[in-house]
Amino acid sequence: MALKTPEQYEDSLRKMNFKIYLMGELVKNWVDNPIIRPSMNSVKKTYELAQKPEHEDLMTAKSHLTGEKINRFTHLHQSTEDLVKKVKMQRLLGQQTGSCFQRCVGMDAMNAVDSTTYEMDQKLGTKYHERFINFLKMVQKEDLTVDGAMTDVKGDRGLAPHQQADPDMYVHVVEKNDKGIVVRGAKAHQTGAVNSHWVLVMPTIAMTKDDADYAVSFVCPADEKGIFYIYGRQSCDTRKLEGGTIDVGNHEFGGHEALMVFDNVFIPWENVLMCGEFEFSGMLVERFAGYHRQSYGGCKVGVGDVLIGAQAA
Ligand SMILES: Cc1cc2nc3c(=O)[nH]c(=O)nc-3n(C[C@H](O)[C@H](O)[C@H](O)COP(=O)(O)OP(=O)(O)OC[C@H]3O[C@@H](n4cnc5c(N)ncnc54)[C@H](O)[C@@H]3O)c2cc1C
Repeated sequence: MALKTPEQYEDSLRKMNFKIYLMGELVKNWVDNPIIRPSMNSVKKTYELAQKPEHEDLMTAKSHLTGEKINRFTHLHQSTEDLVKKVKMQRLLGQQTGSCFQRCVGMDAMNAVDSTTYEMDQKLGTKYHERFINFLKMVQKEDLTVDGAMTDVKGDRGLAPHQQADPDMYVHVVEKNDKGIVVRGAKAHQTGAVNSHWVLVMPTIAMTKDDADYAVSFVCPADEKGIFYIYGRQSCDTRKLEGGTIDVGNHEFGGHEALMVFDNVFIPWENVLMCGEFEFSGMLVERFAGYHRQSYGGCKVGVGDVLIGAQAA
Protein backbone atom coordinates (compact mmCIF):
# COMPACT_ATOMS: atom_id res chain seq x y z
CA MET A 1 0.00 0.00 0.00
CA ALA A 2 1.71 3.22 -1.12
CA LEU A 3 -1.24 5.59 -0.59
CA LYS A 4 -3.26 5.70 2.62
CA THR A 5 -6.89 6.80 2.44
CA PRO A 6 -7.80 9.73 4.73
CA GLU A 7 -9.75 7.30 6.92
CA GLN A 8 -6.76 4.97 7.23
CA TYR A 9 -4.62 7.95 8.24
CA GLU A 10 -7.06 8.96 10.98
CA ASP A 11 -7.29 5.37 12.23
CA SER A 12 -3.50 5.05 12.29
CA LEU A 13 -3.27 8.07 14.62
CA ARG A 14 -5.83 6.54 16.97
CA LYS A 15 -3.52 3.52 17.34
CA MET A 16 -0.55 5.68 18.43
CA ASN A 17 0.41 5.93 22.08
CA PHE A 18 1.18 9.64 22.46
CA LYS A 19 1.85 11.37 25.78
CA ILE A 20 0.47 14.86 25.08
CA TYR A 21 -0.16 17.59 27.65
CA LEU A 22 -2.56 20.39 26.73
CA MET A 23 -3.51 23.13 29.18
CA GLY A 24 -1.83 21.13 31.96
CA GLU A 25 -3.72 17.89 31.34
CA LEU A 26 -2.82 14.60 29.71
CA VAL A 27 -4.86 14.25 26.50
CA LYS A 28 -6.46 10.81 26.14
CA ASN A 29 -8.05 11.21 22.71
CA TRP A 30 -5.81 13.40 20.53
CA VAL A 31 -7.77 12.72 17.33
CA ASP A 32 -11.11 14.10 18.52
CA ASN A 33 -9.84 16.75 20.91
CA PRO A 34 -11.54 19.96 19.65
CA ILE A 35 -8.33 22.01 19.80
CA ILE A 36 -6.15 19.39 18.09
CA ARG A 37 -8.72 18.04 15.61
CA PRO A 38 -8.59 20.96 13.09
CA SER A 39 -4.85 20.42 12.66
CA MET A 40 -5.42 16.70 12.06
CA ASN A 41 -8.03 17.65 9.44
CA SER A 42 -5.37 19.65 7.59
CA VAL A 43 -2.95 16.71 7.41
CA LYS A 44 -5.85 14.43 6.45
CA LYS A 45 -6.42 16.67 3.44
CA THR A 46 -2.95 15.71 2.12
CA TYR A 47 -4.19 12.09 2.03
CA GLU A 48 -7.62 12.97 0.63
CA LEU A 49 -6.37 15.04 -2.32
CA ALA A 50 -3.83 12.35 -3.26
CA GLN A 51 -6.79 10.02 -3.96
CA LYS A 52 -8.41 12.41 -6.44
CA PRO A 53 -7.61 11.85 -10.14
CA GLU A 54 -7.73 15.61 -10.85
CA HIS A 55 -4.91 16.21 -8.32
CA GLU A 56 -2.82 13.11 -9.04
CA ASP A 57 -0.14 15.02 -10.96
CA LEU A 58 0.58 17.41 -8.07
CA MET A 59 -0.22 15.26 -5.05
CA THR A 60 1.59 12.08 -6.08
CA ALA A 61 4.94 11.16 -7.59
CA LYS A 62 6.73 8.05 -8.84
CA SER A 63 9.18 6.77 -6.24
CA HIS A 64 12.73 6.81 -7.61
CA LEU A 65 13.41 3.85 -5.26
CA THR A 66 10.56 1.49 -6.12
CA GLY A 67 8.72 2.96 -9.13
CA GLU A 68 5.51 2.95 -7.05
CA LYS A 69 3.02 5.80 -6.96
CA ILE A 70 3.59 7.63 -3.66
CA ASN A 71 2.32 10.75 -1.92
CA ARG A 72 4.52 13.68 -2.99
CA PHE A 73 5.13 14.50 0.69
CA THR A 74 7.23 11.30 0.89
CA HIS A 75 9.12 11.94 -2.34
CA LEU A 76 12.75 12.98 -2.85
CA HIS A 77 12.85 15.73 -5.46
CA GLN A 78 14.48 14.45 -8.66
CA SER A 79 14.24 17.51 -10.91
CA THR A 80 13.32 21.19 -11.11
CA GLU A 81 9.90 20.02 -12.31
CA ASP A 82 9.48 18.20 -8.97
CA LEU A 83 10.35 21.40 -7.09
CA VAL A 84 7.77 23.38 -9.08
CA LYS A 85 5.15 20.68 -8.44
CA LYS A 86 5.98 20.73 -4.74
CA VAL A 87 5.16 24.46 -4.57
CA LYS A 88 1.99 24.02 -6.65
CA MET A 89 0.90 21.19 -4.34
CA GLN A 90 1.43 23.43 -1.33
CA ARG A 91 -0.50 26.24 -2.98
CA LEU A 92 -3.39 23.85 -3.66
CA LEU A 93 -3.43 22.67 -0.04
CA GLY A 94 -3.23 26.26 1.22
CA GLN A 95 -6.25 27.12 -0.90
CA GLN A 96 -8.19 24.08 0.35
CA THR A 97 -7.42 24.43 4.06
CA GLY A 98 -6.56 28.12 4.58
CA SER A 99 -4.07 26.75 7.06
CA CYS A 100 -0.74 25.02 7.65
CA PHE A 101 -1.03 21.39 6.50
CA GLN A 102 2.11 20.38 8.44
CA ARG A 103 3.60 17.71 6.21
CA CYS A 104 6.21 20.01 4.60
CA VAL A 105 8.69 19.93 7.47
CA GLY A 106 9.22 16.17 7.26
CA MET A 107 9.44 16.25 3.47
CA ASP A 108 12.09 19.00 3.60
CA ALA A 109 13.98 17.19 6.37
CA MET A 110 14.05 13.93 4.38
CA ASN A 111 15.39 15.71 1.30
CA ALA A 112 18.14 17.40 3.36
CA VAL A 113 19.12 14.24 5.26
CA ASP A 114 19.27 12.21 2.03
CA SER A 115 22.08 14.22 0.43
CA THR A 116 23.90 14.93 3.70
CA THR A 117 24.06 11.27 4.76
CA TYR A 118 25.19 10.38 1.23
CA GLU A 119 28.11 12.81 1.49
CA MET A 120 28.94 11.61 5.01
CA ASP A 121 29.19 8.02 3.80
CA GLN A 122 31.33 9.03 0.79
CA LYS A 123 33.78 10.89 3.00
CA LEU A 124 33.75 8.80 6.18
CA GLY A 125 32.76 5.29 5.04
CA THR A 126 29.75 5.31 7.40
CA LYS A 127 26.44 3.54 6.74
CA TYR A 128 24.04 6.41 7.42
CA HIS A 129 22.68 6.79 3.91
CA GLU A 130 21.79 3.10 3.62
CA ARG A 131 19.89 3.38 6.93
CA PHE A 132 18.11 6.51 5.75
CA ILE A 133 17.04 4.85 2.48
CA ASN A 134 15.61 1.90 4.43
CA PHE A 135 13.62 4.37 6.52
CA LEU A 136 12.43 6.26 3.43
CA LYS A 137 11.24 3.05 1.77
CA MET A 138 9.07 2.34 4.81
CA VAL A 139 7.74 5.93 4.83
CA GLN A 140 6.82 5.70 1.14
CA LYS A 141 5.31 2.21 1.39
CA GLU A 142 3.17 3.05 4.42
CA ASP A 143 2.50 6.70 3.38
CA LEU A 144 3.64 8.01 6.76
CA THR A 145 3.64 11.58 8.07
CA VAL A 146 7.06 12.53 9.40
CA ASP A 147 7.84 15.38 11.79
CA GLY A 148 11.08 17.22 10.96
CA ALA A 149 12.59 18.12 14.35
CA MET A 150 15.40 20.64 14.17
CA THR A 151 14.89 23.57 16.60
CA ASP A 152 16.39 22.95 20.05
CA VAL A 153 15.29 25.04 23.00
CA LYS A 154 18.80 26.58 22.86
CA GLY A 155 19.16 28.34 26.25
CA ASP A 156 21.75 31.14 26.05
CA ARG A 157 21.99 31.96 22.32
CA GLY A 158 25.49 33.38 22.83
CA LEU A 159 26.88 29.98 23.95
CA ALA A 160 27.60 26.75 22.06
CA PRO A 161 25.64 23.62 23.05
CA HIS A 162 28.41 22.17 25.27
CA GLN A 163 28.82 25.53 27.08
CA GLN A 164 25.19 25.78 28.27
CA ALA A 165 24.63 25.75 32.05
CA ASP A 166 21.98 23.08 31.50
CA PRO A 167 23.41 20.31 29.24
CA ASP A 168 19.93 19.43 27.95
CA MET A 169 19.38 22.72 26.09
CA TYR A 170 20.24 20.88 22.86
CA VAL A 171 19.29 17.26 22.14
CA HIS A 172 22.37 15.14 22.79
CA VAL A 173 23.70 11.60 23.20
CA VAL A 174 23.95 10.57 26.85
CA GLU A 175 24.85 6.92 26.33
CA LYS A 176 26.15 4.63 23.58
CA ASN A 177 26.15 0.85 23.66
CA ASP A 178 26.21 -2.14 21.29
CA LYS A 179 22.53 -1.78 20.49
CA GLY A 180 22.22 1.98 20.01
CA ILE A 181 22.23 5.38 21.71
CA VAL A 182 20.21 7.12 24.42
CA VAL A 183 19.26 10.76 23.77
CA ARG A 184 18.01 13.57 25.99
CA GLY A 185 16.83 17.15 25.43
CA ALA A 186 13.89 18.85 23.73
CA LYS A 187 12.85 20.19 20.34
CA ALA A 188 10.71 23.33 20.27
CA HIS A 189 7.88 24.50 17.99
CA GLN A 190 7.36 21.11 16.31
CA THR A 191 4.83 21.64 13.55
CA GLY A 192 2.31 18.81 13.24
CA ALA A 193 4.21 16.68 15.74
CA VAL A 194 1.16 15.00 17.27
CA ASN A 195 -0.25 14.30 13.80
CA SER A 196 2.94 12.46 12.79
CA HIS A 197 3.86 8.76 12.79
CA TRP A 198 7.64 9.19 12.92
CA VAL A 199 10.11 11.92 13.90
CA LEU A 200 13.28 12.81 12.00
CA VAL A 201 15.59 14.61 14.42
CA MET A 202 18.41 16.86 13.15
CA PRO A 203 20.93 19.19 14.82
CA THR A 204 19.98 22.86 14.76
CA ILE A 205 23.28 24.75 14.29
CA ALA A 206 26.81 24.31 12.91
CA MET A 207 29.00 22.68 15.59
CA THR A 208 32.64 22.14 16.59
CA LYS A 209 34.31 19.04 18.05
CA ASP A 210 33.43 20.10 21.59
CA ASP A 211 29.78 19.72 20.58
CA ALA A 212 30.21 16.21 19.12
CA ASP A 213 27.61 14.67 21.48
CA TYR A 214 25.10 17.21 20.17
CA ALA A 215 25.77 16.40 16.50
CA VAL A 216 23.07 13.77 16.38
CA SER A 217 20.40 12.84 13.85
CA PHE A 218 18.01 9.89 14.04
CA VAL A 219 14.50 8.66 13.30
CA CYS A 220 12.08 7.18 15.82
CA PRO A 221 8.35 6.51 16.14
CA ALA A 222 6.61 9.70 17.29
CA ASP A 223 5.13 7.83 20.28
CA GLU A 224 8.42 6.21 21.36
CA LYS A 225 8.83 5.53 25.10
CA GLY A 226 10.30 8.63 26.77
CA ILE A 227 8.86 11.21 24.32
CA PHE A 228 6.45 13.76 25.81
CA TYR A 229 4.61 16.58 24.03
CA ILE A 230 3.57 19.89 25.48
CA TYR A 231 1.02 21.20 23.02
CA GLY A 232 1.68 24.79 21.96
CA ARG A 233 -1.20 27.16 22.62
CA GLN A 234 -2.10 29.56 19.82
CA SER A 235 -3.97 32.81 20.19
CA CYS A 236 -7.73 32.28 19.86
CA ASP A 237 -7.51 28.47 19.85
CA THR A 238 -10.28 28.18 22.44
CA ARG A 239 -12.53 30.35 20.29
CA LYS A 240 -13.44 27.22 18.31
CA LEU A 241 -14.91 25.77 21.51
CA GLU A 242 -17.21 28.67 22.28
CA GLY A 243 -20.06 27.34 20.17
CA GLY A 244 -20.97 30.59 18.44
CA THR A 245 -21.95 30.82 14.80
CA ILE A 246 -19.85 33.85 13.94
CA ASP A 247 -16.25 34.80 14.61
CA VAL A 248 -15.08 31.20 15.18
CA GLY A 249 -12.09 31.61 12.89
CA ASN A 250 -11.14 28.68 10.63
CA HIS A 251 -13.30 26.12 12.39
CA GLU A 252 -12.43 23.09 10.29
CA PHE A 253 -8.70 23.42 9.69
CA GLY A 254 -5.69 24.58 11.67
CA GLY A 255 -2.06 23.92 12.47
CA HIS A 256 -0.17 23.23 15.65
CA GLU A 257 3.27 23.29 17.21
CA ALA A 258 4.41 21.30 20.23
CA LEU A 259 7.41 21.14 22.53
CA MET A 260 8.82 17.61 22.18
CA VAL A 261 10.74 16.35 25.22
CA PHE A 262 13.17 13.42 24.86
CA ASP A 263 13.58 11.90 28.31
CA ASN A 264 16.34 9.30 27.83
CA VAL A 265 14.97 7.84 24.62
CA PHE A 266 16.67 4.73 23.24
CA ILE A 267 17.45 4.78 19.50
CA PRO A 268 18.73 1.54 17.89
CA TRP A 269 21.77 1.94 15.62
CA GLU A 270 19.73 1.18 12.49
CA ASN A 271 17.82 4.43 13.11
CA VAL A 272 20.87 6.64 13.83
CA LEU A 273 21.80 8.97 10.93
CA MET A 274 24.55 11.09 12.53
CA CYS A 275 26.41 10.50 15.77
CA GLY A 276 29.34 12.80 16.48
CA GLU A 277 30.15 13.95 12.90
CA PHE A 278 29.95 17.62 13.96
CA GLU A 279 31.47 18.87 10.68
CA PHE A 280 28.27 17.84 8.84
CA SER A 281 25.74 19.47 11.16
CA GLY A 282 25.99 22.90 9.47
CA MET A 283 25.49 21.31 6.03
CA LEU A 284 22.32 19.59 7.22
CA VAL A 285 20.90 22.77 8.75
CA GLU A 286 21.57 24.80 5.59
CA ARG A 287 20.04 22.21 3.26
CA PHE A 288 16.95 21.85 5.42
CA ALA A 289 16.56 25.64 5.65
CA GLY A 290 16.90 25.94 1.85
CA TYR A 291 14.13 23.43 1.17
CA HIS A 292 11.96 24.79 3.95
CA ARG A 293 12.21 28.38 2.78
CA GLN A 294 10.80 27.20 -0.53
CA SER A 295 7.95 25.45 1.32
CA TYR A 296 7.09 28.53 3.32
CA GLY A 297 6.92 30.49 0.06
CA GLY A 298 4.62 27.88 -1.49
CA CYS A 299 2.15 27.51 1.36
CA LYS A 300 2.02 31.21 2.17
CA VAL A 301 0.95 31.93 -1.41
CA GLY A 302 -1.80 29.30 -1.05
CA VAL A 303 -3.12 30.64 2.23
CA GLY A 304 -2.77 34.20 0.87
CA ASP A 305 -4.97 33.27 -2.11
CA VAL A 306 -7.71 32.20 0.30
CA LEU A 307 -7.47 35.45 2.25
CA ILE A 308 -7.50 37.57 -0.90
CA GLY A 309 -10.47 35.53 -2.16
CA ALA A 310 -12.31 36.07 1.13
CA GLN A 311 -11.68 39.82 0.99
CA ALA A 312 -12.92 39.96 -2.60
CA ALA A 313 -16.08 38.08 -1.55
C1 LIG B 1 4.98 28.61 13.44
C2 LIG B 1 6.33 27.97 13.63
C3 LIG B 1 6.52 26.64 13.27
C4 LIG B 1 7.75 26.01 13.45
N1 LIG B 1 7.88 24.69 13.11
C5 LIG B 1 9.06 24.06 13.34
C6 LIG B 1 9.21 22.66 13.06
O1 LIG B 1 8.29 22.01 12.61
N2 LIG B 1 10.40 22.06 13.32
C7 LIG B 1 11.44 22.76 13.83
O2 LIG B 1 12.48 22.15 14.07
N3 LIG B 1 11.33 24.08 14.12
C8 LIG B 1 10.17 24.75 13.89
N4 LIG B 1 10.04 26.08 14.18
C9 LIG B 1 11.16 26.75 14.81
C10 LIG B 1 11.84 27.73 13.90
O3 LIG B 1 12.55 27.06 12.91
C11 LIG B 1 12.72 28.57 14.81
O4 LIG B 1 11.82 29.44 15.46
C12 LIG B 1 13.78 29.33 14.09
O5 LIG B 1 14.77 28.40 13.64
C13 LIG B 1 14.42 30.39 14.98
O6 LIG B 1 14.87 29.82 16.17
P1 LIG B 1 14.46 30.47 17.58
O7 LIG B 1 12.99 30.68 17.62
O8 LIG B 1 15.10 29.67 18.64
O9 LIG B 1 15.09 31.93 17.55
P2 LIG B 1 16.61 32.37 17.84
O10 LIG B 1 17.56 31.48 17.12
O11 LIG B 1 16.82 32.58 19.28
O12 LIG B 1 16.60 33.78 17.14
C14 LIG B 1 15.87 34.90 17.67
C15 LIG B 1 16.48 36.17 17.15
O13 LIG B 1 17.80 36.34 17.69
C16 LIG B 1 18.76 36.37 16.62
N5 LIG B 1 19.95 35.61 17.07
C17 LIG B 1 19.97 34.30 17.44
N6 LIG B 1 21.20 33.94 17.84
C18 LIG B 1 21.98 35.03 17.70
C19 LIG B 1 23.36 35.28 17.93
N7 LIG B 1 24.16 34.33 18.43
N8 LIG B 1 23.81 36.52 17.66
C20 LIG B 1 22.98 37.49 17.18
N9 LIG B 1 21.67 37.30 16.94
C21 LIG B 1 21.18 36.11 17.21
C22 LIG B 1 18.08 35.75 15.42
O14 LIG B 1 18.58 36.23 14.18
C23 LIG B 1 16.63 36.19 15.62
O15 LIG B 1 16.39 37.49 15.15
C24 LIG B 1 8.83 26.75 14.00
C25 LIG B 1 8.65 28.10 14.34
C26 LIG B 1 7.43 28.71 14.16
C27 LIG B 1 7.28 30.15 14.54
